[in-house]
Amino acid sequence: MPKFAIETPPVVALPIAGSDALYPVRRVYCIGRNYAAHAIEMGHDPDREAPFFFQKNPNNLDPSGRFPYPPNSDDVHYEVEMAVMLKSGGTNIALDGALGHVFGYALALDMTRRDLQALQKKAGRPWEIGKAFERSAPVGPVHQVSNIGHLDAGAIALKVNGELKQQGDLNQMIWKVPEMIAYLSEYFELAAGDVILSGTPAGVGPIARGDVMDVAIDGLGQMTVETV
Ligand code: MN
Repeated sequence: MPKFAIETPPVVALPIAGSDALYPVRRVYCIGRNYAAHAIEMGHDPDREAPFFFQKNPNNLDPSGRFPYPPNSDDVHYEVEMAVMLKSGGTNIALDGALGHVFGYALALDMTRRDLQALQKKAGRPWEIGKAFERSAPVGPVHQVSNIGHLDAGAIALKVNGELKQQGDLNQMIWKVPEMIAYLSEYFELAAGDVILSGTPAGVGPIARGDVMDVAIDGLGQMTVETV
């Protein structure tokens, strides 16, 4: 064991459905505007421009089912997304081998301080203050590919207090999971523990303290997250 000079940060570890083992997280990549209808609602042309990514921090992932409303924002939005968990990686990964690096999938939320993100966009500045804040990515248990296979189609939906707000299908992704893995691996060295949030369908909007979000993806079940 190496000797550390200060207290060592805990490894971020997520529950795995049907297992007592945990999934350790190394990095979190998030794609922007990956469903055409969401690109349109955010004021962009949905034509197939090159994908772009931002990052959240590993310890922004939170399986607790509680989302603390963050400070310094009056316009916090939900974005339901499918998370992709890698078990291996590399650079310049070929498209036809990309899915072989996937360990599993999970329900996730890319919670966003939209007002701060908008200010950053306008100023041409990075998005972390709007995206990578504490507990900004509620996440469900990881479902292993060995149990559920790969998910490339199926309903994705979010309700707030029982009212349907977001509805789409995984097959509407502009950049598919293998394409995201291949593309990212041209710019970064991907590795076991890397997580990719695959974008949100249309219908994003604000939440308030006390709101209950119910998210569901075919094959991944359902997750309830309470805003506190
Ligand atoms: Mn998103």
